[in-house]
Amino acid sequence: MNIETSELLFREAEEHIVGGVNSPSRAYKGVGGGTPIYMERGEGSRFYDVDGNEYIDYLGAYGPIITGHAHPHITKAITKAAETGVLYGTPTALENTFAKKLKAAIPSLDKVRFVNSGTEAVMTTIRVARAYTGRNKMIKFAGCYHGHSDPVLVAAGSGPSTLGTPDSAGVPASIAADVITVPFNDVEAFREAMDKYGDEVAGVLVEPIVGNFGIVEPKEGFLQQVNDLTHEKGALVIYDEVITAFRFTYGSAQQLLGVEPDMTAMGKIIGGGLPIGAYGGRADIMEQVAPLGPAYQAGTMSGNPASMAAGIACLEVLEQPGTYEHLDHLGALLEEGIHQSADSHGLQIRVNRLGGALTVYFTDKSIENYEDAENTDGEKFATFFKKMLEKGINLAPSKYEAWFLTTAHTEEDIDQTLKAVDQTFAEMAR
Ligand code: PLP
Repeated sequence: MNIETSELLFREAEEHIVGGVNSPSRAYKGVGGGTPIYMERGEGSRFYDVDGNEYIDYLGAYGPIITGHAHPHITKAITKAAETGVLYGTPTALENTFAKKLKAAIPSLDKVRFVNSGTEAVMTTIRVARAYTGRNKMIKFAGCYHGHSDPVLVAAGSGPSTLGTPDSAGVPASIAADVITVPFNDVEAFREAMDKYGDEVAGVLVEPIVGNFGIVEPKEGFLQQVNDLTHEKGALVIYDEVITAFRFTYGSAQQLLGVEPDMTAMGKIIGGGLPIGAYGGRADIMEQVAPLGPAYQAGTMSGNPASMAAGIACLEVLEQPGTYEHLDHLGALLEEGIHQSADSHGLQIRVNRLGGALTVYFTDKSIENYEDAENTDGEKFATFFKKMLEKGINLAPSKYEAWFLTTAHTEEDIDQTLKAVDQTFAEMAR
């Protein structure tokens, strides 16, 4: 495969942009390095690089592109927004329309606020939980990514109920000391942390279906127990639905699983590919936020007409009948085919899949928490990733990420992908 132009562009980027990329995972460090491919054009399930190579896309821009690239309905909405001015600094009717649409889909949202990224949304829910409860500590689950604000860039301490340590240079130890990290799907560890710190805990941050060490579902009853134990201590449950909102069903993970948080953070899909974040929840909690309450949060770009228009248009596509059945159908075909190929070539893999999102792990063990995912074979994944890329299948460059299907993917795309999987597994088994 000729990637000469990508190579040139990356060399140039390294001179001007730190690390050559504007978000670290794009630098392929998770698969042992290499030249990131520079894309130039996308249409439906496919995109095309600067050297003219074509790929079936399962990265989905790390999740937002659930309707495929350049979906005509979303493109039209963005074009109209561009033609009428993209930013006024005043409220617009689009914000009301979008807020009502989110509330209709997700009943736990009495009030919402639009921001510009998932990071901002989660960061603000933490502030609001602290303002509402008058407490400082937060609990989160190991391996779950919640953006890059200080309070969530915290690693686990030495045991389930020990205080955290900074997971990035520049995060003060004093901030990390307010965050406790426990293993996902481990009720006993969570109970232990709550017993020890519960009275000081403002909120518990949960990815209700994990998307950040692959797709990992909560065990039966786990989220309800987290809710009960959290509320017993007067703390708030915050769902980080930045990946899961509108992913598996229109009502998001909370509807699918039948559990309700006090607050929800969203992003990715709800912007239809443009920058966005949103958070919301119970009215008495949300009323902590300025201008009504003492918790400050603002944004020059927040609620901008282009993101609002794209987000509304994206939800209009997703609410069409058959959307989630289509994603699930293609996801099932992919899962089945991958298993068949792995079996026929004697490779040990696990596939975690829900609807149109899945992760292929190189292991013979089931994946229920971050430690399980960490223990899977990263070198094998890197080989798989590179061989698939050469065959025109673009996956996320990390063993911890998911493959995302879109409404634009077809059975032909799946056939072509499974041929590439089979050939790749054959090469790996040699
Ligand atoms: N929360 C989750 C669950 C995420 O997966 C991400 C990003 O991948 C974020 C928050 C941060 O979102 P953003 O990258 O839009 O800041």
